[in-house]
Amino acid sequence: MKMFLPNRMITSPYVITPEQLQRNGIKVVFTDLDNTLIAWDDEAAPEQLHNWIKELKTAGIELTIVSNNNEERVSKFAEEVGVPFVYRAKKPLNSGFKRAMRIYAVRRDEVAMIGDQLLTDILGGNRARLFTILVQPVKQSDAWNTKINRQIEKLIVSLLKRKNPLKWEDTL
Ligand SMILES: [Mg+2]
Repeated sequence: MKMFLPNRMITSPYVITPEQLQRNGIKVVFTDLDNTLIAWDDEAAPEQLHNWIKELKTAGIELTIVSNNNEERVSKFAEEVGVPFVYRAKKPLNSGFKRAMRIYAVRRDEVAMIGDQLLTDILGGNRARLFTILVQPVKQSDAWNTKINRQIEKLIVSLLKRKNPLKWEDTL
């Protein structure tokens, strides 16, 4: 069960500041796309996201999108915000993280993985020995394949709660 436990639970990626990341030794951020940065059925990047990425870049923190979604969706979005990306990452498997790690010369504990799902983002990030941050989904609904994961996730959360406080926070 410990493999499903995120290092931190933060309400939204956008409340995470470069200073907070640096305090935790993070130099590179991997992030999920759907329902983490934008709603799964949204196409355009909100102003808030452009600003957040600009803030990170200014502070020297690199960001890469690691998504299980297809090339068309991920590339269109990543190019709009000007960051590298890995599509069909097959999270929680390691292959996508491996592809993303190749972009940077950093240690695993200098990389944070931000995502809205325990079964893909957090399990995968923990298996890859990254610093994992669970965020609340942007939208309450999910794509059909995620709906199944959410049911399993509910079970995992109730099991995790027996031994862990699982509290949402606003600062890293
Ligand atoms: Mg997601």
